[in-house]
Amino acid sequence: MGRQKTIASAIGCFGVGLHTGREVAMTLLPSPPNSGIVFRRMDLPDTPVVEACPENILDVHYATTLGKGGVEVKTVEHLLAALAGLGIDNLIVEISGPEVPVMDGSAAPFVDLLLQAGIRRHYVPKTYIRVTRPLAIEMGDRSIQILPSKRFRIHYTMCFNHPCFPEQSIQLQVSRRSFIREIAPSRTYGFLRDVEYLWGRGLALGGSLENAVVIGEEGPLNDLRFEDELIRHKVLDLIGDLYLLGRSLQGTVVANGAGHLLHTALVKEIQRHLHLDQVSRCVVTAPESLPFPLPASPEPLGSPAL
Ligand SMILES: [Zn+2]
Repeated sequence: MGRQKTIASAIGCFGVGLHTGREVAMTLLPSPPNSGIVFRRMDLPDTPVVEACPENILDVHYATTLGKGGVEVKTVEHLLAALAGLGIDNLIVEISGPEVPVMDGSAAPFVDLLLQAGIRRHYVPKTYIRVTRPLAIEMGDRSIQILPSKRFRIHYTMCFNHPCFPEQSIQLQVSRRSFIREIAPSRTYGFLRDVEYLWGRGLALGGSLENAVVIGEEGPLNDLRFEDELIRHKVLDLIGDLYLLGRSLQGTVVANGAGHLLHTALVKEIQRHLHLDQVSRCVVTAPESLPFPLPASPEPLGSPAL
């Protein structure tokens, strides 16, 4: 921690979009300090850019779509979660289509890709958002709130309305280690009962047993990576959506029955309070003795997952 990070070298992958089903090439490139996470549509004239920021949240149905000036980038949340988990502040994401590839439905392939590229520290201090007062949003019986705390913690509860998955709940402190081990491998999921509805709306066209946990009446059709993989994936989505703030959070998020709509509503609420100066920004000063090489092993970690 302490200084901003990007990747050490360019790296790419190829896959299909979960919702569009379209094949897409994606290249991740290092970028300078304070430039944030920026998507660039390589398939469009003048290769327009869409920044990952609250102002560019365009659609949050079944995935988080960013948009600016009529240019869209769909399903950004799993890649953003990987960037949040590894603490990468600045990156250019070039894609050859409208949607980030789904890979295996989790954030693990993105984590592998980023680690393969190598992580480079900038000489510029990282900034955090430290929440100094509770913020809460309710929509019927669903809710999300953030409470002040020194670490980034998540407590997520979800009822899946399925006999095999009644209610799942998880609490964890988000660190690089807990993210990589406990959250990143969890895959997106879908219920067979919803497939016709989704396809009818042009969604999940790229979905398959290769990139999603598919749940039938009797239970999942593929093997689970965790007994509670579904709630872990909710945490993954939340971490990705919250990273639209562009900085790591210090606070405890309590989510109950939430999804992209509430996640991004909290993002906008935090952003609004940042502008009102009611949520303070915490700047962690970088050490004086620069530069020093990045250690090969993971950086010091916070407490492990609960
Ligand atoms: Zn997801």
